[in-house]
Amino acid sequence: MRQKLQLKGDISLSQSVIQRRNSNQRQKSPIQGRRLFLSHVIQTPLSQQYGQTQQQQQQQQQQQIIQGRSHSQSNVVFQEEVPQKWPIIQLPFLKNTEPTIFFQYPPVCEDKRPMVNARPMTEEEVKKYQLTCKVLGSAPYKCVLTSFDWAGFKRIDEDDEDEEWNVQWGIGNKTTLRNMNRYQKINHFPGCWNMGRKDLLWINLSKFKRKYPKEYNFIPNTYLLQYDYDRFLMAQESAQKDTLWIKKPCADSRGRGITMISKKSKVKKDKNFLIMDYIYNPHLINGYKYDLRVYVLISCFDPLRVYMYKDGLVRFATQKYSTNSKDLTKRYIHLTNFAVNKLSPNFVKNQNSQKDDEGSKWSHQAYRKKLDELGINSRELFMRIKDVVLKTCIATEPFMLDSNAKSQEHRNGYFELYGFDVLIDENLKPWVLEVNVSPSLNSSSPLDKKIKTSLISDVLHLVGVPLWDKNNYKIGSPPKYNQRNIKEISNINTSNCLNKLSQNDFNMLIHTVEEVKRKGKNFSCIFPNPKTIHLYMDLFEFPRYNNKLIERFYQDRCNWLSRFN
Ligand code: ADP
Repeated sequence: MRQKLQLKGDISLSQSVIQRRNSNQRQKSPIQGRRLFLSHVIQTPLSQQYGQTQQQQQQQQQQQIIQGRSHSQSNVVFQEEVPQKWPIIQLPFLKNTEPTIFFQYPPVCEDKRPMVNARPMTEEEVKKYQLTCKVLGSAPYKCVLTSFDWAGFKRIDEDDEDEEWNVQWGIGNKTTLRNMNRYQKINHFPGCWNMGRKDLLWINLSKFKRKYPKEYNFIPNTYLLQYDYDRFLMAQESAQKDTLWIKKPCADSRGRGITMISKKSKVKKDKNFLIMDYIYNPHLINGYKYDLRVYVLISCFDPLRVYMYKDGLVRFATQKYSTNSKDLTKRYIHLTNFAVNKLSPNFVKNQNSQKDDEGSKWSHQAYRKKLDELGINSRELFMRIKDVVLKTCIATEPFMLDSNAKSQEHRNGYFELYGFDVLIDENLKPWVLEVNVSPSLNSSSPLDKKIKTSLISDVLHLVGVPLWDKNNYKIGSPPKYNQRNIKEISNINTSNCLNKLSQNDFNMLIHTVEEVKRKGKNFSCIFPNPKTIHLYMDLFEFPRYNNKLIERFYQDRCNWLSRFN
């Protein structure tokens, strides 16, 4: 099967393309033995035809790129067919930066990523760059393997120490992290557990909650039994008689080990558990409790770059909600985990990816439609969710930066897809219950499969896997970083930026802009977002040079990069 890439607009073919077409030159794919037509047209931008100065053009392009209106400096548009699973290069949108690998959506996504400013690799390039991934674990997720496969990656053996990989999917050991180079990417940050363990999340967030009680009141009050046992006993003693709590293991998942606690319950001091205030008034749909699995991608902590996925899953309990004391032990009422509810006789499995409001798991899109039908402003609710997600990331940022490799060279070497579990109460307030470091990517239904495969393909496309000629890579001396003065940033503007900014500053800004261009339609950038960045800057524990520079760059209407090009 071949994928037909449609042309947009009126395009005149270049001479070489016509010649190649006429001679019907075909190239054989080393991956699948398929035949490939490589023909693309590099269009002259209209502005060049109308005699604008180069600087005017660059400025115009710059504005368009940041505002998301233009796709490329030279629009490369494909004339013909690209076979499946053929590596494609995503060209950069700005000058002075590197191309990355284009991730085609596998068929299960029922979608096509627009091939804008992209071109298939030539046969020589395929041999030269040899895309490889290392996916750890004995039962790797199918959506991860399929996404790599469709982008033309070969999977190498987990134990293979000799062959170099472009991307590793799985937590790296110390040696792997030490030996990484700037072309390699791993899908976990060192220290990712600062957000991913329930006890560490509480330690990090409670610090901010003390400092900013109003802004950080979205995580239920928590007692770590190791430290707060006596405090909990006192709270239990003085609480009203129908008060409820929920006891959970600090580092487990899937609802394992969770129990409900009432005023009468006897609680032992166990350092592996915590107790959280129970949100007794969840918002219900058709009488059932639910929570939202929200996918959040962090591509960098310095500067902080956070994206939220537009789709996700809504997981329903399978017995109608009640706080009756007789029902306290009924897990199908109080827990919304799929792993718990799939065992319930009432669990309804989704059978069709088109019917996303069917059964015990819905898509966010279906959920939003339902809310709108109920007269609830779903847009506003999701804005609130973005707000609590970002505040959680800001609170863990100091701890993450401590654990991260200090080397600036690895700034873009890691990324992390977090699964936030968010409960909505009857007042439509979102509560962050926990953050999963390795959210389940298993697909138990066609709907699951579609959402999760699109998600992984989008994650890999966004973070940008650079091309790397493995035979010719020499480890150079680490880049030098100038003394950076954060106080100077407010004085930087379009006219003096060339003198005031270093090459590294420009690289960081270019990387930030390029990444936003690759986010596609499914991710929204929640930080740094030009419209909202100023609202969050004061929450950071320490003002960071890179975050401040981006804020200033947006304030100054993003014209600096055209000076640099
Ligand atoms: P796990 O890692 O085992 O999934 P969670 O913290 O996500 O643990 O809790 C499992 C489920 O328990 C949640 O999906 C939610 O339905 C319920 N739950 C957890 N904490 C609370 C809480 N504080 N209030 C109400 N329900 C909760």
